[in-house]
Amino acid sequence: MVYISTRGNYQHVQSSMAISMGMVPNGGLFVPESIPRLDQNFLSSGASYQAVAREVFNGFLTDFTSEEIDLCINSAYSSKNFGSDSIINQLQIEPGLSILELWHGPTAAFKDVALQIMPYFLQISKKKNNNSAHTAILVATSGDTGKAALEGFKNCDGMSIMVFYPHEGVSEIQKLQMITTDGNNTAVFAVKGNFDDCQTGVKKMFGDQSLRDLLLQSGIELSSANSINWGRLCPQIVYYIKSYIDLVANHQIAPGDAINFCIPTGNFGNILAAYYAKMMGVPIKKLICASNKNRVLSDFFAKGVYDCNRRFYRTNSPSMDILISSNLERFLFEITCHNAEKVHAWYKSLNSTGRFEVDATTRQAIESIVLSGWVDEDEVLSTINNTYKASGYVVDTHTAVGIALCKRLGPFEHYTVVASTASPYKFSCDVLSGIDGLKHDDEFECIDKIAALSKKPVHSAVFQLRKRSVFHDSVIDISQMKDCIIKSLKKLAG
Ligand SMILES: *Cc1c(COP(=O)(O)O)cnc(C)c1O
Repeated sequence: MVYISTRGNYQHVQSSMAISMGMVPNGGLFVPESIPRLDQNFLSSGASYQAVAREVFNGFLTDFTSEEIDLCINSAYSSKNFGSDSIINQLQIEPGLSILELWHGPTAAFKDVALQIMPYFLQISKKKNNNSAHTAILVATSGDTGKAALEGFKNCDGMSIMVFYPHEGVSEIQKLQMITTDGNNTAVFAVKGNFDDCQTGVKKMFGDQSLRDLLLQSGIELSSANSINWGRLCPQIVYYIKSYIDLVANHQIAPGDAINFCIPTGNFGNILAAYYAKMMGVPIKKLICASNKNRVLSDFFAKGVYDCNRRFYRTNSPSMDILISSNLERFLFEITCHNAEKVHAWYKSLNSTGRFEVDATTRQAIESIVLSGWVDEDEVLSTINNTYKASGYVVDTHTAVGIALCKRLGPFEHYTVVASTASPYKFSCDVLSGIDGLKHDDEFECIDKIAALSKKPVHSAVFQLRKRSVFHDSVIDISQMKDCIIKSLKKLAG
């Protein structure tokens, strides 16, 4: 199976090349040309997480050998990294509604599931393409991605990782998680600016040919670890299939029954993975796209117009504070039956005017599968409160966006699973505010209180975080990014 560009502007490539390259050089994203189908018996087989992962990766990464795929799975998906061999956990909080906990990895957000395995994919992909360069991963982060990428790539041979986060623009927990990262190939910088400044800065570095040439002379190439890379998206398909298998195994649904997935969404990566699971044959009725106040996606699904000319809000679900949802492009490509011409025109318009509008046929196709809506910060807090009162279960602010929307749009005819994207311990102050109605500012005090309320052990990602040594305390100006990269890489790449 080969990978093609959503904008029809690149040749076919193998999966290892799509993963090495990250995105299509002239704009556009790599997508599989066809989708492997699951045997329906597999869905009632009770397969383990690792077995589902094997099925998905063998289907999509067709130029990897089974041995290579097993090596990646065994290295990434272990109890050492995820606390147990089940990797994820699913529990029913009321009849017909389950929570799919995706945050048992080393940094307490769902991004670990992909970022723990992606470095192995990348290492093998480079080998296959005879690429012996040192790969320097650059990441701009508003919080969760940075730490998950650091944990995934630290101490990986032939690679180093550099993270830029907005100085005073991430939570105390997120900052501590990043600056206490060990490893012999990691660098973390606080940038005097906001997230957009970091992101624009990193994009500028990718586009800086003189920097690339200079690094190449030392055998170093730049790469990215964000969700435009197929190597990050593909592992996320696995847990939607596993979720269905577990519902069947636990007799919560009968084999063949359709279910809904509700997903708190920012960059549209996680929800897109659920759409691929549907295309592989998981009986999914609706995908429920839950936005926060930065509701560029729910507006798009309501009106058929994607418009990022709008105010940006900082909310209590910060990992969804995003106005450019990169992976929507892949979804539009699929829903228009691979109409690269249309997609190309829309994204040209987005680049020049910040907006595009889809036609009636496309809207109809989307409406048959997507439900959407947005949830404000007060409703997030009241949902945390209601969920705790009704079931004793404590959810984080992002997951609460999903639950709130399900409550508003439901009850549904079909069993519904809400993707839980972060551990409540990662956003303790806001979570505790939801439960007790008070304002809080000491994350560690809140962590202890949530532990007492939820009777769940503190997540290892935040446990004793305050006592760990700080390895990265640099604060830089935006203008210093390039120098920092050159200097750090001299050290990191040897
Ligand atoms: C990244 C993130 C999201 C958004 O996921 P997308 O794939 O970008 O839609 C939601 N919740 C949390 C906690 C995240 O870290």
